[in-house]
Amino acid sequence: MAQHDWYDKDFYQVLGVSSDVSEKDLTKAYRKLARKYHPDANPDDPQAEDRFKAISEAYDVLSDTARRKEYDEIRRLGRPGGSFRPGPGGAGSGAGGGFNFDTGDLSDLLGGIFGGGGGGGRRRGPAPGTGPRRGDDLEAELHLSFDDAIEGVTTEVHLTSDAACHTCHGSGAAPGTVPQTCSRCGGRGVIDDNQGFFSFSQPCDQCGGRGRVVVDPCPTCRASGIERKPRQVKVRIPAGVRNGQKIRLKGRGTPGRNGGPAGDLLVTVSVASHRLYGRNGNNLTLDLPVTFAEAALGANVKVPTVEGSTVTLKVPAGTPSGKTFRVKGRGVPSSSGTGDLLVTVVVEVPGELTAAQRAAIEALADATPGSPRDGLLQAARPS
Ligand SMILES: [Zn+2]
Ligand SMILES: [Zn+2]
Repeated sequence: MAQHDWYDKDFYQVLGVSSDVSEKDLTKAYRKLARKYHPDANPDDPQAEDRFKAISEAYDVLSDTARRKEYDEIRRLGRPGGSFRPGPGGAGSGAGGGFNFDTGDLSDLLGGIFGGGGGGGRRRGPAPGTGPRRGDDLEAELHLSFDDAIEGVTTEVHLTSDAACHTCHGSGAAPGTVPQTCSRCGGRGVIDDNQGFFSFSQPCDQCGGRGRVVVDPCPTCRASGIERKPRQVKVRIPAGVRNGQKIRLKGRGTPGRNGGPAGDLLVTVSVASHRLYGRNGNNLTLDLPVTFAEAALGANVKVPTVEGSTVTLKVPAGTPSGKTFRVKGRGVPSSSGTGDLLVTVVVEVPGELTAAQRAAIEALADATPGSPRDGLLQAARPS
């Protein structure tokens, strides 16, 4: 009978939450109440059953972002003069009773509830909320070793999320039963409301616009069709993934509702640093210690590569400390091409000298006239 049902029901109060409750707290409150008033827990208590129905209905609306918005809007606009709702019998009060056709709010309101089209005419399509809805995207973080990030790896991401209930496979109905076609709307999810010279459709209040009602609730998910459970999702990480990179796994998020597609899983990759190598995009960087003699005289030096082999780098005579050499193709392989290994030579200064070394270096000092700072001091002198 209650045609404009939503005007009269305080779903927030039914769930014992404030109107700005977060999605998470809403679900928490619902679960607590649903457990308490579930028919299984209260056999032969019709009041508990009514309460359970009211709780389920409230949660059905508020847990759906779009429908919650509609509901909030209806509650915000209120019922002018307390007679927004048609009188008993629906058609009796006609168009006059409380409707104000001059306000822009009304068409906004109707547009909001009935998915556009205003108040006139008949809408035969499914009501909002009955169509297939895509599941939510989920986010997860994945920690990778430096090597796994370079080579690529198949691993598992562990997460806890809403998933289709394993008992009822998401239907919300107890095993062996199926949701029944709603008797009020005949499965359409909407009912037509004839208001004298015009008629419009509104979401069916018995099934909440779904077209189906659960008669025997599933004991696992208490008719919600959704269960929170830990999941492992297998992830193939491509070679060359970077620290902070997000990888989108299509269809691995929250399952869709009413046959809608599942959401995606967004994995943020966190790559551990390496003892030797740094990373700059697809290039690897390495500090390579050389002796003064190698830098001054030139040398062929062995450089370790990240894949565990070595390459020989020709350090030319007279190489200054800090000079960087590029070893082509020894960086990170990735779909955008393989990077290079950037080797920066660092001239090592021995901390302690043997007598022979000291003598040799003193001889070098004697053979080195002037100072490398002469030019500097000259340039700094005022002219
Ligand atoms: Zn279930
Ligand atoms: Zn219905």
